[in-house]
Amino acid sequence: MTSRIAFIGLGNMGAPMARNLVAAGYDVCGYDLVTEAIIRHQKAGGFPAESVRQAVDGADVIISMLPAGHQVASLYLGDKGLLSVLPAGTLVIECSTIEADVAKKIAAAATEKKIDMIDAPVSGGTAGAAAGTLTFMVGGSGEALARARSYLEIMGSAVFHAGGPGAGQLAKICNNMLLAVLMTGTSEALKLGIDNGLDPAVLSDIMKSSSGGNWVLDKYNPVPGVMEKVPASNNYQGGFMVGLMAKDLGLALGTAANSKTAVPMSALAENLYRLHAQSSGFKQDFSSIYQLYTNNQDQN
Ligand code: NAD
Repeated sequence: MTSRIAFIGLGNMGAPMARNLVAAGYDVCGYDLVTEAIIRHQKAGGFPAESVRQAVDGADVIISMLPAGHQVASLYLGDKGLLSVLPAGTLVIECSTIEADVAKKIAAAATEKKIDMIDAPVSGGTAGAAAGTLTFMVGGSGEALARARSYLEIMGSAVFHAGGPGAGQLAKICNNMLLAVLMTGTSEALKLGIDNGLDPAVLSDIMKSSSGGNWVLDKYNPVPGVMEKVPASNNYQGGFMVGLMAKDLGLALGTAANSKTAVPMSALAENLYRLHAQSSGFKQDFSSIYQLYTNNQDQN
């Protein structure tokens, strides 16, 4: 029997992920609060739904890609949540970046209903989502992951089993905390070079091949014009919004407080993103943190 997939959340990440499942031959019924996102999904060959309930009707696999924990909790939990209507045997692949505790709570409720659920947050950005090269960090049982693997391998190129329920989210939170530090540090280094007469493209090439090399320099340069097809060269539109990075840093700091772990670099990065959001808003791509360094210039 061919699977029918319900895909909830067709934003910057969800839309290309759903598109890759459609391209692989699956029936993918998509729903989003934004009508234009559903229309785009339909134009890409997917089926449109007018509600979450309509999207999941007859689906044996549910994939969700929503902004934050509260949207995910209200999608699945409570009297009106999906877990109250999905039949036993359904597979739920929850890909949003959310609190590990929320993921654990949904997984426990799913187990009671004999529904297989994994938390499977991703890394790789919108380019990775479009190319089907995302990295999945999975929390949940080995059996549930085995069922999910063929879908994950269409949307991604690496699948890691981090541990039990919530472990995928913990891995993702650690990764994004590091990414925030790398993005601010890389912006700072590039700005120092520019202020002292270096060409940012040349400096980026040098650092890529040196001990400062990192993912930001390889794939996501924050200086406009250095790299093609990145948000920095598109007025910081698309990509991963400042508001979502601020959310992830909040998740990291909350997790660190619970485990009494010192995370001073990440606390500073969180403050820098908060400052940046106050002047530039939450909607730009997170590489726009580079502007925090340039906007405050020339005051002396
Ligand atoms: P986005 O804001 O572009 O997309 C989220 C979509 O969910 C929106 O289209 C919104 O309308 C929809 N939505 C919200 N509530 C809904 C509901 N109740 N029912 C149906 N649709 C609903 O965000 P994104 O960039 O696609 O990120 C999604 C998740 O992936 C976030 O948790 C983010 O942290 C994570 N993530 C993003 C990136 C990235 O590069 N953008 C990378 C890795 C992980």
